[in-house]
Amino acid sequence: MNLLEELREEVARCEKCPELVENRTQTVFGDGSMEAEVMFIGEAPGRDEDAQGIPFIGAAGKLMNAALAESGIPREKIFIANTLKCRPPDNRDPLPEEMENCAAFLAAQIAIIKPRIIVPLGRFGLERMVRKDLKISDVHGKPIRRKDGLIFFPMFHPAAALHQPRYREHVRQDFIKLAKLLKREGLLGDGGTS
Ligand code: URA
Repeated sequence: MNLLEELREEVARCEKCPELVENRTQTVFGDGSMEAEVMFIGEAPGRDEDAQGIPFIGAAGKLMNAALAESGIPREKIFIANTLKCRPPDNRDPLPEEMENCAAFLAAQIAIIKPRIIVPLGRFGLERMVRKDLKISDVHGKPIRRKDGLIFFPMFHPAAALHQPRYREHVRQDFIKLAKLLKREGLLGDGGTS
């Protein structure tokens, strides 16, 4: 068993948040290759994800897949995780103590996968990965480079486009900008053309 599979099993046994444990069908660890260079960090599983144990397979996931296809980013380049590995009841926002309880699992996923680019999707990923005082509407679509070379590239959460059609174009453009960043970094096809 590799490190990621060991971690998956540890997550499945977690009982730190009683309300989430009581309501979940299963934990939703994450999906993608251990070799992925890009890691997406969403908020928390929804109903479909809780039922199937896979992140982003509901409506937001379909929108995400369409945006990935349009921007030419192969799904194999990406590992998808969430700030919480359990579905909050009725899809309520994650609580600060739940995010805290789950933080070590996310940190371990990052340590194992070692992505070059981390993409916080929406405000919870942004808060957890970058800084609490940033607003996604101010920083989406712009790379934030850390001294060690890791790049954060915050994007609007695809679900924003489901709830408010005016965000649809922002979400599309964020994916197109991500593809350009990947090319500039030599991680996707014709490097340097954009
Ligand atoms: N929204 C998220 O943030 N994560 C999922 O896995 C699904 C929807």
